[in-house]
Amino acid sequence: MKAAVYGGPGDLELRDWPEPVAGAGELLVRVRGCGLCGSDILKILSPDTRAPAVFGHEVVGEVIAVGAAVTRFSVGQRVVVAHHVPCFRCHYCRRGSASMCRAFKRINLDPGGFAELCRVPAPNVEHATFALPPGMSDETASFVEPLACCLRAVKRSGAVAGDAALVIGLGSIGCLLSQAFALAGTAVFGADLVAGRRALGRAAGARVFDVDAELDAALSEATEGRGADVAMLTAGGGSLLPWVAARLRDGGHVHYFAGGDGAALPLPLADLYHRELTISSTYSSSPTELREAFDALATGRIRVDGLITHRLPLGELARGVELMRRHEAVKVYVTP
Ligand SMILES: [Zn+2]
Ligand SMILES: [Zn+2]
Repeated sequence: MKAAVYGGPGDLELRDWPEPVAGAGELLVRVRGCGLCGSDILKILSPDTRAPAVFGHEVVGEVIAVGAAVTRFSVGQRVVVAHHVPCFRCHYCRRGSASMCRAFKRINLDPGGFAELCRVPAPNVEHATFALPPGMSDETASFVEPLACCLRAVKRSGAVAGDAALVIGLGSIGCLLSQAFALAGTAVFGADLVAGRRALGRAAGARVFDVDAELDAALSEATEGRGADVAMLTAGGGSLLPWVAARLRDGGHVHYFAGGDGAALPLPLADLYHRELTISSTYSSSPTELREAFDALATGRIRVDGLITHRLPLGELARGVELMRRHEAVKVYVTP
């Protein structure tokens, strides 16, 4: 079969790859489409990534083979699958750190969504695979995994109904987070340097302003002068932290959704201490949020209209990476 194979930094080409076979408890799917994630791009650009490799973990496909003992799925079904599943039993899992479980990253799709065929291991079949209802499009379903990460981030940020959240960066993740905060009953403010993304954020329901003074006035009015309870950073790295801290209430949470490119955090420790700020982060999701994300998308409580701006064939994955890197694309969807 063909796959978009990573052969080293900057080398991403359509090549032959061994065809996977479904074993007991597993599925083989013909990939219908796969979203390109910011974390794929970080791996594709990093010199530390092991080659050869096939990425892609926001996978929608059609079941073409069912392993022994699989009862919940059948050939011909459209499914959305996610790549990592925890063990559910270890210390990390029992403490709510499912994505830190030692089994989590080991359990993975074979080879990934940027290929014609993909094998879904048994734990993923059991905990991270969902059959699409007739009214749910492939593209909508491809957001299950990224939305799950957003739902988990909202939980971990501690935001509750009546709070105010400030979402920094209004790309596809910022727009999903905005809607996820709103579902939690949190008032949502958004910020982005790019006008087109500010428009996307407004369409996702966030209150977004073109100049900081307007944002600050609205935030102050909505919170009786306190500032946001949570600042959720999907972009901006560390250099933005002082700007963020100035818009956060005392006792508030700064939550990092993205790792940034080697950025560090420049914030006086005295601020952190005297203002009792909390800095936290979210890496990936768990099967609980995958299920919640699937339900929210299937019922239309979370909308993804307009987020996919580019649809590319598998052979043009490298172009998709460039488009997202240059912020010309919001979300790239790749189809074999
Ligand atoms: Zn992703
Ligand atoms: Zn575990």
